[in-house]
Amino acid sequence: MFSADAVICGAGILGLTIARELIRTGYKDIIIFDKEDGTGRHASGRNSGVLHAGIYYDPGTMKARMCLEGNRRMQEYCEERSLPLFKSGKVIVTRNEDELVTLDELKRRAEANGATVEMLDEKSLAELEPNARTTERALYSPLTAVVDPRAILETMRDELERSGKVRFFFNTRFLGSGPTDAVRTTQGDIGYGLFINAAGAYSDKVAQSFGIAGNYRLLPFKGIYRKLKKPAADKIRGSIYPVPNIKNPFLGVHFSRGVSGDVYVGPTAIPAFGRENYGILKGIDSEFAAILLRDMHMFMENKKFREVALEEPRKYFFKHFFADAEKLVRHIAPHDFISCSKVGIRPQLVDMEKSSLVMDFLVERHGNSVHVLNSISPAFTSSMRFAELVVEEYVQGWKPA
Ligand SMILES: Cc1cc2nc3c(=O)[nH]c(=O)nc-3n(C[C@H](O)[C@H](O)[C@H](O)COP(=O)(O)OP(=O)(O)OC[C@H]3O[C@@H](n4cnc5c(N)ncnc54)[C@H](O)[C@@H]3O)c2cc1C
Repeated sequence: MFSADAVICGAGILGLTIARELIRTGYKDIIIFDKEDGTGRHASGRNSGVLHAGIYYDPGTMKARMCLEGNRRMQEYCEERSLPLFKSGKVIVTRNEDELVTLDELKRRAEANGATVEMLDEKSLAELEPNARTTERALYSPLTAVVDPRAILETMRDELERSGKVRFFFNTRFLGSGPTDAVRTTQGDIGYGLFINAAGAYSDKVAQSFGIAGNYRLLPFKGIYRKLKKPAADKIRGSIYPVPNIKNPFLGVHFSRGVSGDVYVGPTAIPAFGRENYGILKGIDSEFAAILLRDMHMFMENKKFREVALEEPRKYFFKHFFADAEKLVRHIAPHDFISCSKVGIRPQLVDMEKSSLVMDFLVERHGNSVHVLNSISPAFTSSMRFAELVVEEYVQGWKPA
């Protein structure tokens, strides 16, 4: 049987950053295992690559506390290793007068979170992002940046391997917990002193096999992107986001210039029928009926979910996707868009007993296992600070009740 002082399930950004933190606090023998053949095959390698800058989040939440410092550390990490980093900045624009109230609320939240933002009038917006369109005012975030998530993951994996303290087991699927202080995997049992569940879209299932988190389920939301062709792409300098509905966890279809210079538009947040349902049918498995039932339950019981479920699926059709995007810019036409293979799934934790979406990161400890249960956006941005918190508060500083 394999064993290690710490065993981590999941080689996404959280699995890797938590391993870095464990090493920093003295761990010398860590196994990271993942069911895929490499790092970042799911959310961490399929996101927008935007380093958010602490604007949206309710002051005091973990997201608010982790995001800005995570952004700073991730930018520093990229700079020190000459990894792609585009300090793009971002503007949040309003589509009508009603959204000005939320724009002001975003400014208030940003300032309470210590973020740097500037309210722009239409003239200053035009100087910064000439093709952006707004009603009266827009919010500018100079610290928003864009990275290449896959390059970061590969570099981290390489550094962890070279430390001599981490072994990666790929193509190794978690099957269940037990016997005592061991987990069952497709490659055999792995014994541990400390187990970390960083399994992203499956973290609820992994936690439940330890007998916890019974009231939680992860529901998948599909994020489809499109790309802009030249010369339309040249008219977008950085990132242009709409004012979101701050009661739900998604930020809305936006324009974002990536590190390669390509301009992406998206992602949607369409309820999906499988945790890895990346295609129309691909990734739909035996859990399909259970997911559909949970979606129906949430549709009946939760207004926020109902709004998303009614609004988002229309965006499968280009006409509706385009209608959303064109509200953010002055000059764009349907023929400026091309399809794009990039698609991600955002697992969103739902408290089934309360029929509510869990809006913040969530971590639980059970015996000598720690479970990261809701690594929603901006968990990529926040990961380095979030991982530090997981280790400080749930590993080192943990006092059993
Ligand atoms: C479309 C989209 C856009 C986003 N945009 C942004 C953004 O711009 N900025 C930002 O900060 N965040 C963004 N996010 C959120 C961000 O990507 C996630 O918060 C973050 O990547 C979560 O990391 P993770 O390590 O928890 O999960 P993951 O990256 O999903 O990693 C979990 C790993 O666990 C493995 N695993 C699962 N089950 C098992 C099992 N049974 N056995 C073994 N291994 C298992 C998986 O294979 C996977 O590799 C976005 C997400 C999506 C989907």
